[in-house]
Amino acid sequence: MSRKRLDTQALFEGIRSGDKLLLSRAITLVESSLPIDQVKAQELLAKCLPHTGRAFKIGITGVPGVGKSTFIDSFGTYLSSLGKKIAILTIDPSSVNSRGSILGDKTRMNRLSHDPMAFIRPSPTAGTLGGVASKTREAMLLCDAAGFDLIIVETVGVGQSETLVRDMVDFFLLLMLPNAGDELQGIKKGIMEMADAIGINKSDGRYLEKARQAKVSYSQALRLFPIKKSQWRPKTFLCSGLEGKGMDNCLHIIEEYHQLVSQNGFLEKLRGTQKLDWFQQDIKKQLLDKFFSEEAINTQIHELEKAILENRLSPKQAASTLINNWISRFHLE
Ligand code: GDP
Repeated sequence: MSRKRLDTQALFEGIRSGDKLLLSRAITLVESSLPIDQVKAQELLAKCLPHTGRAFKIGITGVPGVGKSTFIDSFGTYLSSLGKKIAILTIDPSSVNSRGSILGDKTRMNRLSHDPMAFIRPSPTAGTLGGVASKTREAMLLCDAAGFDLIIVETVGVGQSETLVRDMVDFFLLLMLPNAGDELQGIKKGIMEMADAIGINKSDGRYLEKARQAKVSYSQALRLFPIKKSQWRPKTFLCSGLEGKGMDNCLHIIEEYHQLVSQNGFLEKLRGTQKLDWFQQDIKKQLLDKFFSEEAINTQIHELEKAILENRLSPKQAASTLINNWISRFHLE
């Protein structure tokens, strides 16, 4: 018992002092599904919670090959040169259930991975996408308590994880290629609508002219969306992760956004809503986990399935029977 306390306390102190190795261990603890680790993880998160809320959280998405890792390497290095501490986390839908990984396979972010101001953590590779997102939220909380100024969450824009990321960050950046329409890039209108900024990446060399045209088209497209609750008008900018261009513009846009949403109260409201959504999602998840882990429930499900297949009960009746039996048990206890 005392050892357990000491471990959590040691991790907490390590995190607060900005020790990246201990932060990394703490994230591993949070990602573990072992019940004993989960108890410790929750203890640690509770300790960290009062020390959060300072970091600004940015989501970055875009199709594979748009240049996300190159951009983040450049942007992170730029931020670091300004004395800012940055943490990079990834959510990789392709890594869920070990189906191979789009984000994890290659050597990514060469400069940042050697930068003492930066911390990079790849996506958890097991569980459902919802589960991975929930663990990423907890990892963000730890990074926040560790004193990072900015936390960047990167995800592949293939239409599965963007909404999850949007729901955990303060600012959402979409990277696009200069040479193709959004149809071709596989980016859905809904994702564009979620963006607070669109960066036309690879705005260099022979792509530059096309990039300028793309910027005009995307600016026009953004104007057609209804005004956001934040009152922020999404911006477009040109950038080249490869040449390190446009990084100052990107930061300027983020700072402008930050100033607006801090002043008009939107940031506080957004963060509140995100926390309450997380709470709702966890109620559902924990209820389902508890429900399906009961042996008696599984036996009843088996019997009810037979009844459904033999047309003795409709699926809805069978579900009601199951739930009512479960609820009546609490009344008896
Ligand atoms: P990701 O899959 O979105 O993370 O993309 P990467 O950062 O791995 O980049 C994909 C490819 O595009 C690589 O071959 C990069 O060298 C190249 N690339 C990335 N950024 C740029 C850029 O700003 N300009 C140009 N011309 N190429 C780039």
